[in-house]
Amino acid sequence: MLTVPKLHLPTLAICGSEQRFPVRRIYCVGRNYADHAREMGSDPSRDLPFFFGKPADAVVGGGRLPFPSRTAELHHEVEMVVALHGGGADVAVADAAALIFGSAVGIDLTRRDLQADAKKNGRPWDMAKGFDRSAPIGPLRRGMAPASGSISLSINGQMRQNGNLKDMIWSVAEIIAALSGYVELAPGDLIFTGTPAGVGPIKRGEALRGMIAGLEPIEITFQE
Ligand code: MN
Repeated sequence: MLTVPKLHLPTLAICGSEQRFPVRRIYCVGRNYADHAREMGSDPSRDLPFFFGKPADAVVGGGRLPFPSRTAELHHEVEMVVALHGGGADVAVADAAALIFGSAVGIDLTRRDLQADAKKNGRPWDMAKGFDRSAPIGPLRRGMAPASGSISLSINGQMRQNGNLKDMIWSVAEIIAALSGYVELAPGDLIFTGTPAGVGPIKRGEALRGMIAGLEPIEITFQE
């Protein structure tokens, strides 16, 4: 008789706790900082937020990572990630904050060459955005997600992205409300809230550090 496989539930570290946060789904906001929308060739005043996803087991808590396959243009996007302990459909903006368990620093790793090809050919983004270990996320800090403060990313100690959370086009509450109109949200859901300008390529062997004021940094190093 064939044995039924056992699955590992993906989890995230929680600051100051032995407990782990179980991950149900990962959603990402497409463009949420005007300067990044412009650098990608879009008009930030016209574009409504849009969403895409990554598999739950794309989360990784940092450390040494193998360089992803099938790309010659791996890009970093540092983002605030919010974790939900509540859910619902058609959540009002005023009720959204109560769903938040905590926040963390994440990096939306992107195979930009595959994404550009998908955009050009009208194909899905899954292989550009939802590959293995494409969602490094630091430890979650319990409580309200910060609405302002520095968000930055360095490579080998050199600053590459440097923005402020207050420049998000859509607030965390507005993102949760909008997303809950498309899908019913539930405890364990994570939302990447968009990246400021300065996205760019990562080379083999480089060390990345994503930072948000008041949160634990995320650190990853790619193998040679
Ligand atoms: Mn992103």
